[in-house]
Amino acid sequence: MVKGKSASGQSSRRAGAGQRATHRSLKEQLILAGKVLVAEGQDDFTRGHISFRLPDDPNLFFMKAHSIGLDEITMQNILTIDLEGAVVAGTARRHSEVYIHSEIFKARPDVNCIIHTHPTYSIALSATGRGLKCYSQPGALFYQALGSYTDTINLIRSHAMGAGVARALGNGRAVLLKNHGVVVTGATIAEAVIGTIMLENGAMVQLLVEAAGDPAPEFSRADIEKLKADISQPEQFTINFDYLVRRIKRRR
Ligand SMILES: [Zn+2]
Repeated sequence: MVKGKSASGQSSRRAGAGQRATHRSLKEQLILAGKVLVAEGQDDFTRGHISFRLPDDPNLFFMKAHSIGLDEITMQNILTIDLEGAVVAGTARRHSEVYIHSEIFKARPDVNCIIHTHPTYSIALSATGRGLKCYSQPGALFYQALGSYTDTINLIRSHAMGAGVARALGNGRAVLLKNHGVVVTGATIAEAVIGTIMLENGAMVQLLVEAAGDPAPEFSRADIEKLKADISQPEQFTINFDYLVRRIKRRR
């Protein structure tokens, strides 16, 4: 019995160490993701947030804190939050829009990372009431995968409003919050970060095309779906996220 207890004690200590290492590496990725997002122009003062679901406890997620920029996330100020939006670890102030994250994590078990930002061109496109067209390759990533939330310009400060955003997302990749910002999801941090940047790029090209006037027709559905499948490969997100991380490290 004594021997058995000691062996199981050792294995639970090992499991605990493994869990701490995983959490540490996820937090490091969140820190880098915040810096990449700011380098790519996704900042709006201290607004905007990023979260990641804990792989060993899907009912909890790590999230950036209030009152800091996306590029000021540290190991110390990341909060751990449950699916009701309650802080279970950490002392920093919580974003009032936490419900965007908690309600999407509840509705979408496949989603592990959620980003909310206020990027200029995506907001401008949302204000037109028109959807994203495939006028450029980034548009294909969101082909039939971009929802629209039109209930309010205000912050998403309740469970009900968060659930509304989750409904607008449906099975899609992202949501345009009308006259407010974007919510982009991914299975990984790399996927959500690259998706956020590509959505803004697709919106920018579309607004340029529409401003120029008289756009030529988009390519066929089959042609767009082929590109969508190619650029949705996990490797594509990882390669491009890793590149952006190397770039911010070079600039330090
Ligand atoms: Zn917002």
